[in-house]
Amino acid sequence: MGVFIFAEWTREGIHPVTYELLNEGRRLADLLEVPLGAIFLGPPEARDEAEALTEYGADRVFLALHPALATLRDDLATEIVVKVLREEAPEVMLFSATSRGQALAPRVAGKMKLGLTAHCIAFEIRPEDRALVQIRPSFGENVMAKIISRTKPQMATVRPGVFAPAEREPGRKGEVREVEVPETESAIEVKSFRPKEKKGVDLSEARVVVAGGRGMGSKELFDKLFELAALLEGAVGATRPVCHLGWVSEDHMIGVSGQTVSPRLYLGFGISGALHHVVGIKDPDFLVAVNIDPEAPLMQKADLAVVGDAREIVPLLIQRLKEIKGMAASKEGS
Ligand SMILES: Cc1cc2nc3c(=O)[nH]c(=O)nc-3n(C[C@H](O)[C@H](O)[C@H](O)COP(=O)(O)OP(=O)(O)OC[C@H]3O[C@@H](n4cnc5c(N)ncnc54)[C@H](O)[C@@H]3O)c2cc1C
Repeated sequence: MGVFIFAEWTREGIHPVTYELLNEGRRLADLLEVPLGAIFLGPPEARDEAEALTEYGADRVFLALHPALATLRDDLATEIVVKVLREEAPEVMLFSATSRGQALAPRVAGKMKLGLTAHCIAFEIRPEDRALVQIRPSFGENVMAKIISRTKPQMATVRPGVFAPAEREPGRKGEVREVEVPETESAIEVKSFRPKEKKGVDLSEARVVVAGGRGMGSKELFDKLFELAALLEGAVGATRPVCHLGWVSEDHMIGVSGQTVSPRLYLGFGISGALHHVVGIKDPDFLVAVNIDPEAPLMQKADLAVVGDAREIVPLLIQRLKEIKGMAASKEGS
């Protein structure tokens, strides 16, 4: 019984996405009126951090601690997760769609002959039969598929950055249960560890995002967005086609294949607003779209939709902002 999540361990500690899973898991568990469980695998020194998962909403934490679990060993991890799932029989099991989650979840699904929905961005509970409705963009552009599993636990991976992290509630108590780590030797031998280079651009924290699409027309005009972003103390985002055209690096991509942004102000220039892009724009306080086509989906979604040529409007905005900043500077000076 219950909703379970997989709590992910990295060399730097518990992966932040774990707290996002706990938040959404808590919501689903409350809807189903069942406890929220977390399965944690890691080295013995991770104990304190793992036990604190109860303060982030977990009612039960299943702890498998062993030096061999300090790094990714999918075979061993699969055995442990499958054992817990067979014993506890939760209704729902969520993994994150990180490289670790994406490696582990299919192994667990394969071993238990379960369905698995990848890269979900939202969930609902169907009240009549308590089914987990797993929602994700599908079939190219415009379909938000709602998927129901025929098998239990209903398993899904969750796109990182989609759900807000759970907040800590110091002193919140839960049950912590040790899980036996099997004696079996892992077939995976870790020869060396090389950390992945950090992404050049982190859009997730930007308060202002100035994003451009194919409607900007050329790399030269797209580059003007950097000037505009600098004036607004923001960051530059992009659609997938412009990254593929080489106008800007893929680090700037927003959407299903890129980053998720949650700015106070999102400005979209020459962007159609395809679903693959807009799922990466999470709860902006104010969304401005500039497009020659008033029917473009992003224009429909915008708080302020400006019908016009982005290639003309961007330089005008830059000029106006420079004037305003110039005025502000002279006022300060007077
Ligand atoms: C599996 C998959 C994953 C994908 N992942 C992503 C992703 O993560 N992120 C992403 O962005 N896309 C992604 N895509 C692509 C996505 O589906 C769209 O094709 C893409 O977002 C469209 O980019 P765009 O708006 O720049 O271009 P277009 O759809 O070509 O839109 C250009 C817009 O500019 C307007 N325009 C033209 N000229 C001007 C002008 N002078 N001034 C103002 N407006 C003008 C047009 O009216 C149009 O609305 C993915 C696609 C697939 C199949």
